[in-house]
Amino acid sequence: MAKVIALANQKGGVGKTTTAINLSASLALLGKKVLLLDADPQANATSGLGFDINLEGIYECITGAKTAADVILQSPDVKNLWLLPSSIDLVAADTELPKMENGHHVIRRIVESVRDRYDYILIDCTPSLGMLTVNALAAADSALIPVQAQYLSAKGLEQLLQTVQKVRRQINPKLKIEGILLTMTDSRTIYGQQISNLIRQAYGKHLKVFDQTIPRSVRAAETSTTGKSIFQYDPKGKVAEAYHSIAKGVLADAEKRLKRQFEQLR
Ligand code: ATP
Ligand code: MG
Repeated sequence: MAKVIALANQKGGVGKTTTAINLSASLALLGKKVLLLDADPQANATSGLGFDINLEGIYECITGAKTAADVILQSPDVKNLWLLPSSIDLVAADTELPKMENGHHVIRRIVESVRDRYDYILIDCTPSLGMLTVNALAAADSALIPVQAQYLSAKGLEQLLQTVQKVRRQINPKLKIEGILLTMTDSRTIYGQQISNLIRQAYGKHLKVFDQTIPRSVRAAETSTTGKSIFQYDPKGKVAEAYHSIAKGVLADAEKRLKRQFEQLR
């Protein structure tokens, strides 16, 4: 059964989609079967993997016109990687989901219908705390929170953590926080280092803040327009290396958890 990880932060432009694409690609390159679910009407993960943004996808699954299996596509570039695409039509979901029966669990049901086919399902969330993000968190085992280290948006992070708490209390008690991932870091400037340190001090006691950060790089910024992951566009660069290290950490954590469960069973 796949582990489901939602990439969430209501702040826009913090690296959710870049992380969703490259963490998915990295896990796939490490031999895991990965589905990337694009839950954002901007459909940046869809175009970022080189797909058309007018395809039938998550919106049609939400309305019930299609099943997930109908619309999932295999990446032509990365072995082991699949996409459940999005399109601008998904904008309507934020008003339609609240009217639906069990409206918080619609994406969860879609995920469950294909969960046994993958090792990991990553959900790229939209930059809001609306119904789509709540649906993604309801479907997830954990939330991975990319935070841009460019400036401290602590208030936004508080709001997100409160939403996670609320979803945990009311909808999905098993939801964990995978960790806070500092993105677009610039270790060459004192300012960049200070921001990273501030976030670690403020949240590191209660939450995992990944030691590995994602450095800012021009090649990474360029990648979003190529329809490729960083592993095709700049495989030897520091951003590819950083995402690979995060992916290996996620796998190591999963292995540790499995071992613990196994030992409890004995
Ligand atoms: P949104 O909230 O709109 O969905 P997002 O959180 O998904 O945004 P991304 O789209 O991943 O954020 O990234 C925002 C911008 O920053 C993009 O133009 C992307 O190319 C760029 N970017 C992401 N990561 C890096 C990086 N490590 N170095 C340089 N630029 C980056
Ligand atoms: Mg995005």
